[in-house]
Amino acid sequence: MPVTDPELIAIVQKRVLKKYVCRRCGALNPWGAKKCRRCKSTNLRPKHYEIGGKR
Ligand SMILES: [Zn+2]
Repeated sequence: MPVTDPELIAIVQKRVLKKYVCRRCGALNPWGAKKCRRCKSTNLRPKHYEIGGKR
């Protein structure tokens, strides 16, 4: 069931999507991270997750 409530989506995006994914090793890092906690790479990207996409 897709999430359609915009208010709920905003809450989830604030809480769940505040993470960085390392481009090098794929480790999940906290939002305030400047570099990867696993490989010390600074090549991080914000985690993208589509709510109410497929499924
Ligand atoms: Zn890494």
